[in-house]
Amino acid sequence: MDYQTGARASMNKQNICFTTLKKECAERGLDPASIPAFKHTLTDKALAHKQAQHVSFIQAITHFFNKFISSLSGIPILAAANDRDGYVLHMIGDSAIKETITKMGIRNGVQMTAEYNGINSACLALEYGEPVSVIGSQHFHEYLHDAACYSIPISDPHESEVLGTLSFMTAADFAHPLLETLLMTMKESIERELKLLKQNERLRLLNELIMDTTTSGMMISDKDGNILNANKALEQLFNKSKPELLGKNIRDFACVGPYMDHALKSGVPHLDIEAAFTNEKGQQSFYLLDALPIFDDTHTLVGSFAQLRNITSRKQTEQMLLNTEKLAAVGQMAASAAHEIRNPLTTIRGFIQLLEPSFHQQEHYDLVLEEIDRINLIISEFLILSKPQATCFEQQNLVQILKDTVALSQPQASMHNVQIQVHFFADPIFIRGDGNQLKQVFINLIKNGMDAIESHGVLSIHLKANEQGEAAVKITDTGIGMTETQIQKLGTPFFTTKKEGTGLGFMIIKRIVNQHNGKIEVKSKKGEGSTITVLLPLSE
Ligand code: ADP
Ligand code: MG
Repeated sequence: MDYQTGARASMNKQNICFTTLKKECAERGLDPASIPAFKHTLTDKALAHKQAQHVSFIQAITHFFNKFISSLSGIPILAAANDRDGYVLHMIGDSAIKETITKMGIRNGVQMTAEYNGINSACLALEYGEPVSVIGSQHFHEYLHDAACYSIPISDPHESEVLGTLSFMTAADFAHPLLETLLMTMKESIERELKLLKQNERLRLLNELIMDTTTSGMMISDKDGNILNANKALEQLFNKSKPELLGKNIRDFACVGPYMDHALKSGVPHLDIEAAFTNEKGQQSFYLLDALPIFDDTHTLVGSFAQLRNITSRKQTEQMLLNTEKLAAVGQMAASAAHEIRNPLTTIRGFIQLLEPSFHQQEHYDLVLEEIDRINLIISEFLILSKPQATCFEQQNLVQILKDTVALSQPQASMHNVQIQVHFFADPIFIRGDGNQLKQVFINLIKNGMDAIESHGVLSIHLKANEQGEAAVKITDTGIGMTETQIQKLGTPFFTTKKEGTGLGFMIIKRIVNQHNGKIEVKSKKGEGSTITVLLPLSE
């Protein structure tokens, strides 16, 4: 080891023997008097790509160089960042040194290798994984004998790999152990900075993930109420894009502004405030709003945060429950009112019949009777719907029930030229049920069939016991039929297409069939007719 190495290269823990290294260079055919070439030089595009990959590294070097080195007045220093393959990515510092080395071909994008460039601190630092200094004549190439170079590996804080090297270059006359200390300090600062940046980036991603996957709208403002951040849910809620929102102030949003404003002014949070919000399309939605002040570590108010949870569907359910309760109450009242109306109505009808001779015009008389009958019909159907029926389940012969029903419907059928055809495939067919209610079902179905025919047509009724242990009553008409939408609506209260209809008949049918553990199937085609099948469990 020569004198210089021992005295100055305190950083070189590996005890690098420069004499041996120089020998090796000569053996490789390097000429100490020449200006060396480089193994590879990156294209501008490839260099830009590599620089982009190492942007935090480069920024950190620039930052700490300006902080530590620029204050060392009088000592010319150039700092360089190389990647882990030796490519020079960035240089900063003394322009005279930069100019000199540029003349020697050292610039961004060239690859420093031991093979081509002989003894250089950057390659040695990478090779030994330690700080290395190469000062003056320790260099193989004579053109570097006036230079002192210090390099240190920089590690990637999260990947436990070497990211590259940081090097200082100065004139050999300025070589000083203080520079080594500075280099190590700068390395530590850079690595800490890179670690923080990475952590911040992870936190930012996590934040963004949380903000954007939550269904609650979130908004953050500074202490003056300027919106700093807003998540996707909030963009949708306010129907505004993030850039539009970020330029605005919380006070521009009437539904949250006042609460956030108050949180900012008073430092007190507002929690679980119910807020209604009408968007530009006029749709109203309901929200639970939290507006909170944000404090920093020193308890200084720095901004406000608002969170809006959509409770529209909960509100709607509440409203629906309220309506259902109201409806039930109204239903009960209506049921008793219907009773009270029906009794005097029967008396009125009787007296009007007695008064027939005193009506000057027969059609007036008929009209009054018809209207009374209609009131009666609506009331009867209403009563069935609103009042839990006092049912009396017993063994019933469905054939007999259908015969009775047909007999009841016959007069109306004759009036409208509707021919009723009946096919009983067996007799008796027993089921368990309430005779009157079952009659009500078939009267309603036959009536609907006849209404659909209007005049001239066939209404056929089939009854058989099927293999599934059910009595199947099939009522087919050759009437006007129904559209798909009509079939869907069938059985919803007050759905009727008839001038005189109540829209309650099918609902009653469904309710009674349900009570009998039965099913209804509807097949219908507009203009062709309909088939309604009632399936009721046979009694054992
Ligand atoms: P309403 O008979 O008082 O109108 P319903 O509940 O009995 O009330 O029937 C509802 C509607 O369903 C009818 O207005 C009619 O449009 C349709 N509908 C029911 N049965 C038939 C059928 N057999 N053919 C055609 N349309 C029908
Ligand atoms: Mg009907």
